[in-house]
Amino acid sequence: MRTRIVAQPVLMLLVLALAAAPAAAQEYKSGIVWPEPPVVTPPPYTGPVAPPEDAIVLFDGTNLDAFHGGDAWKLEDGVAIVSGRDIVSRQSFGDCHLHVEWAAPAEVKGNGQGRGNSGVFLMDRYEIQILDSYQNPTYYDGQCGALYKQRPPLVNACRKPGEWQTFDIFFRAPRFKDGKLVTPGYVTVLHNGVLIQNNTRIEGVTSWTDPPTYHPHPARQPLRFQNHGDPVRFRSIWIRDLMDREDANDAAVAKRQAELEAAAEGPVEAPPVKD
Ligand code: MG
Repeated sequence: MRTRIVAQPVLMLLVLALAAAPAAAQEYKSGIVWPEPPVVTPPPYTGPVAPPEDAIVLFDGTNLDAFHGGDAWKLEDGVAIVSGRDIVSRQSFGDCHLHVEWAAPAEVKGNGQGRGNSGVFLMDRYEIQILDSYQNPTYYDGQCGALYKQRPPLVNACRKPGEWQTFDIFFRAPRFKDGKLVTPGYVTVLHNGVLIQNNTRIEGVTSWTDPPTYHPHPARQPLRFQNHGDPVRFRSIWIRDLMDREDANDAAVAKRQAELEAAAEGPVEAPPVKD
């Protein structure tokens, strides 16, 4: 009897504590059974690739002043090494061509998602995965060059750990109007010169825990480079901001469409536009 009197309040407290504990984050899985991306040996690295005249150079080996948090990363011999936190560009971008040169650590540590993990977050929320996927199996929509948790790369074009690699990311930003999605984002990626994402539709924010969903955001947003605890190196980051030209082209198409409809006094078949 005495034991019961003591045990019941303790048990009650335990039950209350368990009920109040936050649920552990659950990994989101799409349920899609992707085929394995074949391994393709890319051509040799010939970089660094010089930026075109209209590029904005975000990192050329000298400093990371273009980024919030750049001081946290180590800078050695013209190379920036991931350390401590994500870095976020001071400038914001929408449609763009982004060129990134990076290398996974030469010394292999860990496996799967724990090996050479970083990432390029377009608009601070749509991740193109950086991972050492050289003979390092992981889930396909999380391997190097994946649109994270949404689309695996078409092929695995990774170079060996420690070797320089390039990403050329061609991005069409999503468009929102009155708080609603008008057109989703699209992304094309060359990894070491090999096409690995071909006009892939972005389904929304890339997340480990949640299914992709769009949340309206401004037309331009910063770039973010991920700290995932691995000393991934970067040597060159430049970007061509293409949004004004895309918008001007779209406006020209819309103007012509309006002219044709006015002449026909009613809707006519639209000229081809990007969806
Ligand atoms: Mg990552």
